[in-house]
Amino acid sequence: TTALEKRFTSGKGIIGKPTVIHAVNGVSLSVERGETFAIVGESGCGKSTLARLLLRLLEPTEGTVTYDGQDLTGLSAARMRKLRAEMQFIFQDPFSSLNPRMTVETIVGEPLLVHSTLSRKERRARVADLLTKVGLRPDHADRYPHEFSGGQRQRICVARALASGPKLLIGDEPVSALDVSVQAQIVNLLEDLKDDFGLTLIIIAHDLSVIRHMADRVAVMYLGEVVELAATEDLYSTPRHPYTRALLSAIPVPSPGGRGQIAHLGGDIPSPANPPPGCKFHTRCPHATEICRTTRPVLEEGTAHQTACHHWRDLPTLSEPAPTPER
Ligand code: SF4
Ligand code: MG
Repeated sequence: TTALEKRFTSGKGIIGKPTVIHAVNGVSLSVERGETFAIVGESGCGKSTLARLLLRLLEPTEGTVTYDGQDLTGLSAARMRKLRAEMQFIFQDPFSSLNPRMTVETIVGEPLLVHSTLSRKERRARVADLLTKVGLRPDHADRYPHEFSGGQRQRICVARALASGPKLLIGDEPVSALDVSVQAQIVNLLEDLKDDFGLTLIIIAHDLSVIRHMADRVAVMYLGEVVELAATEDLYSTPRHPYTRALLSAIPVPSPGGRGQIAHLGGDIPSPANPPPGCKFHTRCPHATEICRTTRPVLEEGTAHQTACHHWRDLPTLSEPAPTPER
Protein backbone atom coordinates (compact mmCIF):
# COMPACT_ATOMS: atom_id res chain seq x y z
CA THR A 1 0.00 0.00 0.00
CA THR A 2 1.05 3.59 -0.30
CA ALA A 3 0.08 5.92 2.52
CA LEU A 4 -3.48 4.82 2.93
CA GLU A 5 -5.96 7.14 4.48
CA LYS A 6 -9.52 6.57 5.44
CA ARG A 7 -11.58 9.36 6.84
CA PHE A 8 -15.06 8.75 8.04
CA THR A 9 -17.50 11.57 8.25
CA SER A 10 -19.80 10.99 11.11
CA GLY A 11 -23.08 12.84 11.42
CA LYS A 12 -22.70 13.26 15.14
CA GLY A 13 -20.51 16.36 15.16
CA ILE A 14 -20.67 18.30 18.36
CA ILE A 15 -21.27 21.68 16.79
CA GLY A 16 -23.59 20.50 14.06
CA LYS A 17 -20.72 20.05 11.63
CA PRO A 18 -19.80 16.54 10.64
CA THR A 19 -16.80 15.19 12.48
CA VAL A 20 -14.02 13.80 10.37
CA ILE A 21 -12.49 10.71 11.87
CA HIS A 22 -9.14 9.60 10.63
CA ALA A 23 -9.50 5.85 11.11
CA VAL A 24 -6.37 5.12 9.16
CA ASN A 25 -3.87 7.88 8.73
CA GLY A 26 -1.02 7.59 6.27
CA VAL A 27 -0.34 3.89 6.75
CA SER A 28 2.15 2.30 4.34
CA LEU A 29 2.68 -1.42 4.53
CA SER A 30 3.68 -4.23 2.27
CA VAL A 31 3.01 -7.87 2.94
CA GLU A 32 5.12 -10.52 1.26
CA ARG A 33 3.65 -13.54 -0.42
CA GLY A 34 3.56 -16.50 1.94
CA GLU A 35 4.00 -14.31 4.98
CA THR A 36 1.92 -14.21 8.15
CA PHE A 37 1.53 -10.54 8.92
CA ALA A 38 -0.16 -9.38 12.10
CA ILE A 39 -1.78 -6.03 12.79
CA VAL A 40 -2.17 -5.41 16.52
CA GLY A 41 -3.80 -2.67 18.54
CA GLU A 42 -6.62 -1.85 20.91
CA SER A 43 -10.21 -1.44 19.75
CA GLY A 44 -10.67 1.66 17.68
CA CYS A 45 -7.06 1.82 16.49
CA GLY A 46 -8.14 1.43 12.87
CA LYS A 47 -6.89 -2.10 12.31
CA SER A 48 -10.21 -3.47 11.04
CA THR A 49 -10.64 -0.45 8.81
CA LEU A 50 -7.18 -1.04 7.42
CA ALA A 51 -8.04 -4.67 6.63
CA ARG A 52 -11.22 -3.64 4.87
CA LEU A 53 -9.31 -1.08 2.83
CA LEU A 54 -6.88 -3.78 1.74
CA LEU A 55 -9.73 -5.86 0.35
CA ARG A 56 -11.50 -2.80 -0.98
CA LEU A 57 -14.52 -3.57 1.14
CA LEU A 58 -14.01 0.13 1.89
CA GLU A 59 -12.64 2.72 -0.50
CA PRO A 60 -9.67 4.73 0.76
CA THR A 61 -10.00 8.49 0.89
CA GLU A 62 -6.41 8.65 -0.30
CA GLY A 63 -3.75 6.18 -1.29
CA THR A 64 -3.58 2.94 -3.20
CA VAL A 65 -3.64 -0.76 -2.51
CA THR A 66 -1.43 -2.85 -4.75
CA TYR A 67 -1.97 -6.58 -4.97
CA ASP A 68 0.24 -8.73 -7.15
CA GLY A 69 1.40 -5.64 -9.00
CA GLN A 70 -2.12 -4.36 -9.67
CA ASP A 71 -3.52 -1.18 -8.22
CA LEU A 72 -6.78 -2.37 -6.70
CA THR A 73 -8.11 1.12 -6.19
CA GLY A 74 -8.32 1.54 -9.96
CA LEU A 75 -9.93 -1.80 -10.80
CA SER A 76 -13.43 -2.15 -12.19
CA ALA A 77 -16.07 -3.82 -10.05
CA ALA A 78 -16.03 -6.87 -12.36
CA ARG A 79 -12.25 -7.35 -12.12
CA MET A 80 -12.42 -6.81 -8.40
CA ARG A 81 -15.10 -9.50 -8.03
CA LYS A 82 -12.81 -11.98 -9.73
CA LEU A 83 -9.87 -11.04 -7.58
CA ARG A 84 -11.94 -11.18 -4.45
CA ALA A 85 -12.11 -14.96 -4.70
CA GLU A 86 -8.37 -14.89 -4.06
CA MET A 87 -8.78 -12.73 -0.98
CA GLN A 88 -11.00 -14.06 1.73
CA PHE A 89 -12.02 -12.60 5.04
CA ILE A 90 -12.66 -14.41 8.29
CA PHE A 91 -14.57 -12.40 10.83
CA GLN A 92 -14.45 -12.23 14.58
CA ASP A 93 -17.91 -13.55 15.15
CA PRO A 94 -18.63 -16.90 13.51
CA PHE A 95 -22.19 -16.75 14.86
CA SER A 96 -23.41 -13.81 12.85
CA SER A 97 -21.48 -14.59 9.69
CA LEU A 98 -23.22 -17.92 9.08
CA ASN A 99 -26.75 -18.12 7.76
CA PRO A 100 -28.69 -20.11 10.40
CA ARG A 101 -31.09 -21.54 7.81
CA MET A 102 -28.44 -23.04 5.58
CA THR A 103 -26.78 -26.39 6.07
CA VAL A 104 -23.02 -26.53 6.33
CA GLU A 105 -22.97 -28.15 2.92
CA THR A 106 -24.78 -25.17 1.36
CA ILE A 107 -22.66 -22.64 3.24
CA VAL A 108 -19.32 -24.16 2.32
CA GLY A 109 -20.46 -25.13 -1.19
CA GLU A 110 -21.77 -21.68 -2.09
CA PRO A 111 -18.45 -20.21 -3.26
CA LEU A 112 -18.01 -23.33 -5.42
CA LEU A 113 -21.25 -22.51 -7.23
CA VAL A 114 -19.96 -19.05 -8.02
CA HIS A 115 -16.32 -19.75 -8.78
CA SER A 116 -16.32 -23.20 -10.37
CA THR A 117 -18.20 -25.47 -12.73
CA LEU A 118 -18.36 -28.55 -10.55
CA SER A 119 -21.29 -30.96 -10.76
CA ARG A 120 -23.43 -31.42 -7.67
CA LYS A 121 -21.65 -34.65 -6.85
CA GLU A 122 -18.22 -33.14 -7.29
CA ARG A 123 -19.28 -30.21 -5.15
CA ARG A 124 -20.40 -32.54 -2.36
CA ALA A 125 -17.07 -34.32 -2.49
CA ARG A 126 -15.19 -31.05 -2.43
CA VAL A 127 -17.20 -29.83 0.58
CA ALA A 128 -16.49 -33.09 2.41
CA ASP A 129 -12.83 -32.65 1.62
CA LEU A 130 -12.79 -29.06 2.91
CA LEU A 131 -14.60 -30.07 6.11
CA THR A 132 -11.99 -32.73 6.73
CA LYS A 133 -9.22 -30.21 6.11
CA VAL A 134 -10.60 -27.89 8.79
CA GLY A 135 -11.07 -30.73 11.25
CA LEU A 136 -14.82 -31.26 10.97
CA ARG A 137 -16.62 -34.48 10.22
CA PRO A 138 -17.75 -34.63 6.59
CA ASP A 139 -20.86 -36.54 7.60
CA HIS A 140 -21.97 -33.45 9.54
CA ALA A 141 -22.43 -31.52 6.30
CA ASP A 142 -26.23 -31.75 6.59
CA ARG A 143 -26.30 -30.01 9.96
CA TYR A 144 -27.06 -26.37 10.67
CA PRO A 145 -24.72 -23.81 12.29
CA HIS A 146 -26.50 -23.87 15.68
CA GLU A 147 -25.59 -27.54 16.05
CA PHE A 148 -21.91 -26.64 16.31
CA SER A 149 -19.76 -25.05 19.01
CA GLY A 150 -18.17 -21.63 18.54
CA GLY A 151 -14.85 -23.11 17.54
CA GLN A 152 -16.50 -25.48 15.09
CA ARG A 153 -18.44 -22.60 13.60
CA GLN A 154 -15.22 -20.71 13.02
CA ARG A 155 -13.94 -23.86 11.29
CA ILE A 156 -16.99 -23.73 9.02
CA CYS A 157 -16.16 -20.11 8.18
CA VAL A 158 -12.60 -21.13 7.37
CA ALA A 159 -13.84 -23.97 5.12
CA ARG A 160 -16.12 -21.53 3.30
CA ALA A 161 -13.23 -19.10 2.83
CA LEU A 162 -11.03 -21.89 1.44
CA ALA A 163 -13.71 -23.03 -1.01
CA SER A 164 -13.02 -20.16 -3.37
CA GLY A 165 -9.32 -21.00 -3.60
CA PRO A 166 -7.88 -17.96 -1.83
CA LYS A 167 -4.26 -16.87 -1.90
CA LEU A 168 -4.72 -14.28 0.82
CA LEU A 169 -6.69 -14.84 4.00
CA ILE A 170 -7.41 -11.94 6.29
CA GLY A 171 -8.62 -12.81 9.78
CA ASP A 172 -10.18 -9.94 11.72
CA GLU A 173 -9.70 -11.12 15.29
CA PRO A 174 -10.56 -14.64 14.16
CA VAL A 175 -10.26 -16.12 17.64
CA SER A 176 -11.12 -13.34 20.07
CA ALA A 177 -14.80 -14.33 20.34
CA LEU A 178 -13.84 -17.90 21.23
CA ASP A 179 -13.06 -19.54 24.54
CA VAL A 180 -9.39 -19.26 25.37
CA SER A 181 -9.06 -23.05 25.27
CA VAL A 182 -10.32 -23.07 21.69
CA GLN A 183 -8.26 -20.11 20.47
CA ALA A 184 -5.02 -22.06 20.15
CA GLN A 185 -6.77 -24.78 18.14
CA ILE A 186 -7.97 -22.28 15.55
CA VAL A 187 -4.57 -20.57 15.45
CA ASN A 188 -2.93 -23.96 14.85
CA LEU A 189 -5.49 -24.76 12.18
CA LEU A 190 -4.76 -21.52 10.32
CA GLU A 191 -1.03 -22.24 10.47
CA ASP A 192 -1.50 -25.74 9.09
CA LEU A 193 -3.78 -24.53 6.31
CA LYS A 194 -1.37 -21.77 5.42
CA ASP A 195 1.25 -24.38 4.57
CA ASP A 196 -1.17 -26.78 2.88
CA PHE A 197 -2.79 -24.15 0.69
CA GLY A 198 0.18 -21.81 0.19
CA LEU A 199 -1.68 -18.91 1.75
CA THR A 200 -0.57 -15.47 2.78
CA LEU A 201 -2.15 -14.56 6.11
CA ILE A 202 -2.98 -11.19 7.58
CA ILE A 203 -4.14 -11.56 11.17
CA ILE A 204 -5.67 -8.74 13.14
CA ALA A 205 -5.53 -9.01 16.92
CA HIS A 206 -6.01 -6.80 19.94
CA ASP A 207 -3.20 -8.27 21.97
CA LEU A 208 0.18 -9.70 21.22
CA SER A 209 -0.29 -13.07 22.86
CA VAL A 210 -2.41 -14.71 20.16
CA ILE A 211 -0.07 -13.99 17.26
CA ARG A 212 3.27 -14.53 18.94
CA HIS A 213 3.89 -18.03 17.65
CA MET A 214 2.26 -17.48 14.32
CA ALA A 215 3.24 -14.12 12.79
CA ASP A 216 6.40 -13.44 10.81
CA ARG A 217 6.03 -9.68 11.19
CA VAL A 218 3.88 -7.43 13.30
CA ALA A 219 2.57 -3.90 12.79
CA VAL A 220 1.44 -2.23 16.00
CA MET A 221 -1.25 0.41 15.44
CA TYR A 222 -2.38 3.23 17.67
CA LEU A 223 -5.16 5.63 16.70
CA GLY A 224 -4.95 4.96 12.99
CA GLU A 225 -1.17 4.99 12.72
CA VAL A 226 1.47 2.28 12.64
CA VAL A 227 3.79 3.05 15.58
CA GLU A 228 6.09 0.06 15.26
CA LEU A 229 6.76 -2.52 12.59
CA ALA A 230 9.16 -5.40 13.08
CA ALA A 231 9.86 -9.07 12.66
CA THR A 232 7.96 -10.84 15.43
CA GLU A 233 11.14 -12.02 17.19
CA ASP A 234 12.59 -8.50 17.22
CA LEU A 235 9.35 -6.99 18.45
CA TYR A 236 9.19 -9.36 21.42
CA SER A 237 12.89 -9.30 22.27
CA THR A 238 13.55 -5.58 21.77
CA PRO A 239 10.27 -3.67 21.75
CA ARG A 240 11.01 0.01 21.19
CA HIS A 241 7.81 1.99 21.21
CA PRO A 242 6.37 2.74 24.65
CA TYR A 243 2.98 1.58 23.44
CA THR A 244 4.35 -1.76 22.24
CA ARG A 245 6.10 -2.16 25.58
CA ALA A 246 2.83 -1.52 27.37
CA LEU A 247 1.08 -4.09 25.18
CA LEU A 248 3.77 -6.64 25.91
CA SER A 249 3.75 -6.14 29.65
CA ALA A 250 -0.01 -6.26 29.84
CA ILE A 251 -1.29 -9.57 31.02
CA PRO A 252 -4.08 -10.34 28.65
CA VAL A 253 -7.31 -10.76 30.52
CA PRO A 254 -9.34 -13.46 28.85
CA SER A 255 -12.55 -11.75 27.85
CA PRO A 256 -14.23 -13.31 24.84
CA GLY A 257 -15.87 -10.55 22.85
CA GLY A 258 -14.46 -8.00 25.27
CA ARG A 259 -13.31 -4.60 24.11
CA GLY A 260 -9.69 -5.60 24.20
CA GLN A 261 -8.46 -2.60 26.17
CA ILE A 262 -5.13 -2.71 27.87
CA ALA A 263 -6.16 -2.66 31.49
CA HIS A 264 -2.97 -1.35 33.06
CA LEU A 265 -2.25 1.46 30.59
CA GLY A 266 -3.28 4.71 32.21
CA GLY A 267 -6.05 6.64 30.58
CA ASP A 268 -8.51 5.78 27.86
CA ILE A 269 -7.75 5.79 24.18
CA PRO A 270 -8.51 9.31 23.00
CA SER A 271 -11.41 9.61 20.58
CA PRO A 272 -10.29 9.15 16.97
CA ALA A 273 -12.54 12.12 16.17
CA ASN A 274 -10.37 14.35 18.31
CA PRO A 275 -6.87 12.87 18.46
CA PRO A 276 -4.18 14.61 20.49
CA PRO A 277 -1.65 16.70 18.53
CA GLY A 278 1.95 15.62 18.16
CA CYS A 279 2.44 12.01 19.10
CA LYS A 280 -1.03 10.57 19.52
CA PHE A 281 0.22 8.41 22.35
CA HIS A 282 1.52 11.30 24.47
CA THR A 283 -1.57 11.43 26.70
CA ARG A 284 -0.77 7.93 27.97
CA CYS A 285 2.99 7.76 27.55
CA PRO A 286 5.22 7.80 30.65
CA HIS A 287 8.12 9.16 28.56
CA ALA A 288 6.37 12.09 26.90
CA THR A 289 8.22 15.41 26.69
CA GLU A 290 7.40 18.75 25.10
CA ILE A 291 8.29 17.71 21.55
CA CYS A 292 5.88 14.76 21.88
CA ARG A 293 3.01 17.15 22.52
CA THR A 294 3.71 19.22 19.43
CA THR A 295 5.45 17.15 16.76
CA ARG A 296 4.21 13.94 15.24
CA PRO A 297 6.95 11.29 15.13
CA VAL A 298 7.11 9.49 11.81
CA LEU A 299 7.86 5.84 11.28
CA GLU A 300 11.57 5.64 10.50
CA GLU A 301 11.50 3.73 7.28
CA GLY A 302 14.29 1.96 5.44
CA THR A 303 15.08 -0.64 8.07
CA ALA A 304 13.35 -3.87 9.01
CA HIS A 305 12.51 -2.60 12.50
CA GLN A 306 10.65 0.70 12.26
CA THR A 307 9.48 2.88 15.11
CA ALA A 308 7.53 6.12 15.31
CA CYS A 309 8.78 7.68 18.55
CA HIS A 310 11.02 10.68 19.26
CA HIS A 311 12.70 9.02 22.18
CA TRP A 312 12.95 5.29 21.60
CA ARG A 313 16.75 5.43 21.43
CA ASP A 314 16.91 7.01 24.89
CA LEU A 315 14.64 4.55 26.62
CA PRO A 316 16.13 1.85 28.80
CA THR A 317 16.34 -1.47 27.00
CA LEU A 318 13.88 -3.96 28.29
CA SER A 319 14.78 -7.50 28.94
CA GLU A 320 12.34 -9.79 27.31
CA PRO A 321 9.17 -10.17 29.32
CA ALA A 322 8.37 -13.57 30.72
CA PRO A 323 7.29 -15.80 27.85
CA THR A 324 3.61 -16.48 27.47
CA PRO A 325 2.79 -20.07 28.32
CA GLU A 326 3.11 -22.40 25.37
CA ARG A 327 -0.25 -23.26 23.95
FE1 SF4 B 1 5.98 8.60 24.11
FE2 SF4 B 1 7.00 10.78 22.97
FE3 SF4 B 1 7.58 8.39 22.00
FE4 SF4 B 1 5.14 9.39 21.70
S1 SF4 B 1 7.02 10.20 20.82
S2 SF4 B 1 5.65 7.33 22.30
S3 SF4 B 1 4.87 10.46 23.63
S4 SF4 B 1 8.13 9.19 24.02
MG1 MG C 1 -12.17 -4.49 15.05
